[in-house]
Amino acid sequence: MTAMGSSRYDPDRAELAELLGGEPAYRIEQLWDGLYRQGRPLEDVTGLPAALRDRLAESLPTALGAAAEQRADDGATTKWLWRLRDGAAVETVLMHYDDRTTVCVSTQAGCAMACRFCATGQAGFERHLSVGEIVEQVVRARWASGERRVSNVVFMGMGEPLANFDATWGAVRRLHDDLGIGARHLTVSTVGIVPGIRRLTAGGLPVGLAVSLHAADDELRNELVPINRRYPLADLLDACDEHRSRTGRRVTFEWALIDGVNDRFADAERLAVITRHRGAHVNLIPLNPTPGYPVVGSSRNRVHAFRDRLADAGVAVTIRDTRGRDIDAACGQLRAGVEVQIRRPD
Ligand code: SAH
Repeated sequence: MTAMGSSRYDPDRAELAELLGGEPAYRIEQLWDGLYRQGRPLEDVTGLPAALRDRLAESLPTALGAAAEQRADDGATTKWLWRLRDGAAVETVLMHYDDRTTVCVSTQAGCAMACRFCATGQAGFERHLSVGEIVEQVVRARWASGERRVSNVVFMGMGEPLANFDATWGAVRRLHDDLGIGARHLTVSTVGIVPGIRRLTAGGLPVGLAVSLHAADDELRNELVPINRRYPLADLLDACDEHRSRTGRRVTFEWALIDGVNDRFADAERLAVITRHRGAHVNLIPLNPTPGYPVVGSSRNRVHAFRDRLADAGVAVTIRDTRGRDIDAACGQLRAGVEVQIRRPD
């Protein structure tokens, strides 16, 4: 057997069957079940003869070497730094809530979108992840989650999922078809790559769409989210409307509140105009500190005043429960291994 792909979660069923060669046909079911339904290390898939397991483990490498694991929020949040086979590094976050358990996955090592206030964007782009490298993050987080079943997956870690569309879509299908996570429990977050949103919509699964808006006029959005120059607001909102009408799901708009930049009442008014009649949901994220952006987040009072202003205007709005801030696991803080001190838990 020769090594296949960069993760054992890359090959599809036909490729695995080929790898099994002369083995009895039912072995593929056992292998698929072990990898996806049980989601266990190959070495523990006891239905398979030991010699075969050893051979498979050799040809089907794990993509993710754990470089560090940190906990925060009294154990409710875990962040992993993974070292990939070629040395690239990415991060995954597992979050337990009262009513759900969510895994936040990375889709690229680094990111090319260069949003000024985001640590991943500040570090630049390294490479795309493969389907298997994305899926394996969920499988690994699921082992660690134990009794708490992973109910939701959000594509909100490092990278821009829709700039790596094929792998993102492949991972969505695997998580849905083989790990059994419903489309309504999968959310793809994007800076607003319009052709990617349209392809996602056309995929035919009612996957959640979250758009990192941060500004409700082109001038400010060009500054904060440079890809807006290519896909301006009018086109972006059109694609969001199509997603809403084709999937029946309301779109979420993410808005990191930055002191004096996008937290003024005029910003709230403009945002309300955009979101109210769309039945959209606004998720406010208090800005998390990053090394390359000197501007601070809005004060607590300001965040609440902004929220109230939107709510008064009839907008469905929530404030994101920021997780993992003290371990740099919060939104916009993921910056795997780039001159960052990874602290091990005490
Ligand atoms: N590239 C995709 C997926 C990353 S999701 C996207 O941008 O949507 C990460 C979320 O955290 C995005 O909404 C992003 O805009 C937001 N974010 C980035 N930097 C942040 C910061 N410093 N504080 C709070 N949120 C931030």
